[in-house]
Amino acid sequence: MSETRSVRTRFAPSPTGHLHVGGARTAIFNWLYARHHGGVFIIRVEDTDQARSTRESERMVLDDLRWLGLYWDEGPDTGGPHAPYRQSERSELYASVARQLLDSGHAYRCFCSEDTLEAKRRDAEAEGRPPHYDLTCHRLTSGEVAERLAASVPAAIRFHVPKGPGSVFDGDVTIDDLIRGEVTWKAESLGDFIILRSDGMPTYNFCVVVDDHDMDISHVIRAEEHLTNTHRQVLLYRALGWEIPKFAHVSLILGQDRSKLSKRHGATSVAAWADDGYLPDAMLNYLTLLGWSPADGVEIFDRDTAVAAFELDRVNSAPAVFDPQKLAWTNGQYLHKLESGELWSLCKSRFEAAGWLREDSRETRAWFESALALTQKAAHALADFVPALAPLFEFDVEKELADPEVAEVLGSEGLEGFVAQIVEDLRANGAPCDADAYKAFTERMKGASGRKGKPLFMPIRVATTGRAHGPELVALIPLLETGARTPGLAPIVPPLARAEALLAALRAPGAS
Ligand code: GLU
Repeated sequence: MSETRSVRTRFAPSPTGHLHVGGARTAIFNWLYARHHGGVFIIRVEDTDQARSTRESERMVLDDLRWLGLYWDEGPDTGGPHAPYRQSERSELYASVARQLLDSGHAYRCFCSEDTLEAKRRDAEAEGRPPHYDLTCHRLTSGEVAERLAASVPAAIRFHVPKGPGSVFDGDVTIDDLIRGEVTWKAESLGDFIILRSDGMPTYNFCVVVDDHDMDISHVIRAEEHLTNTHRQVLLYRALGWEIPKFAHVSLILGQDRSKLSKRHGATSVAAWADDGYLPDAMLNYLTLLGWSPADGVEIFDRDTAVAAFELDRVNSAPAVFDPQKLAWTNGQYLHKLESGELWSLCKSRFEAAGWLREDSRETRAWFESALALTQKAAHALADFVPALAPLFEFDVEKELADPEVAEVLGSEGLEGFVAQIVEDLRANGAPCDADAYKAFTERMKGASGRKGKPLFMPIRVATTGRAHGPELVALIPLLETGARTPGLAPIVPPLARAEALLAALRAPGAS
């Protein structure tokens, strides 16, 4: 690479589904590298597989990249000096470069049908030869080629890999991969390969080279699975006399069982994590650590810090393991730092969907902000707030009694009398609406029952909430009481009504 070549990277998704964490990590590394070097980050859509590519998938992938905050300088929607950025719209360029290779003798027309090729492959296999193309069409005279073309025999264009000194394949092919170091392919490992199919569609290795050159890509940072394609690409560069970009092949991402990450390992699409309420900054932070780490070993960093620190020489060539627990922990670190207003706006739609928020007002918002503050530290994702707040909105005495821990507390010695005292106090004084009132309430209950510690607080918790576990009572009881009085929320059963219902159940004939 010439010393002066400015950094231009690209992420080249094939739009055949959602953006997966592996693709997102590749995009992040490209983005970080470009930003670190003040370069340009490009999105190129590789949609030549017409059967599998969809515009809908392209839209989803771009949305997911935007959600991660990976804004690009050139791309299918933004345009740029090398437009169009969709391979399906660049056929003329591929055809003209293929013609150039035909003219220079580096490529030739191949009239062999799929069936013929298949038979040749089978024969080679049976004879223990490598399945390379047997050069039948390379040997055709120009007259024979013209004849077939005149007869409209479908023709693919095949790149010729001449072996021997002076050819573009002068001995072995070696690249100096920025992550994997030197990688060499033996001269004999490659046969002539198709660059343009007979239907005019270019093959991956061909259009990637044409585009990376045309878009002046300086660094090709991509998944390790493409390493095996790189020697074909290097030969094309050589044949065309083009400058070869630097390559950096990023290792695989494995599941925790160390097999390739797949659906079996749970959610692998970025959108699924977003739906669960993972935050873009946390996701970016976690995915950046899949194969890279800053020199100081810090695990939580913002994107500016990552941009400032990112270099490819700290990218690990060993596979990275995707660990959902670590991701949850990372997300928790970001979630716990959110201010109440931010958290509220991120969660609001979830509460509307749960039917809990019926009217968006100052009061409902204030109430939810207190409820969120109470559960924030235990949450790892926004989705966690729904089960965490459900006990506030849901109270069903039969269901609560069916919980063995609740039943155990209520079944303990003298409990009916104590619950009766609780009910009596709540009736007389009203349920506590704040911390002071709560303190006074527990003092009175202590005095009336002679209980303290767990035997005091567990029955209070179960009687006033219906559950054996939950956030601290000093905030929870006031939240239930004020929630029950806040218009615009789904109905909340207040502490007194909960205690009355449980007491009635305890007194019902047959109750133990
Ligand atoms: N379109 C390829 C993919 O989605 C990427 C190819 C490349 O980066 O060279 O895997």
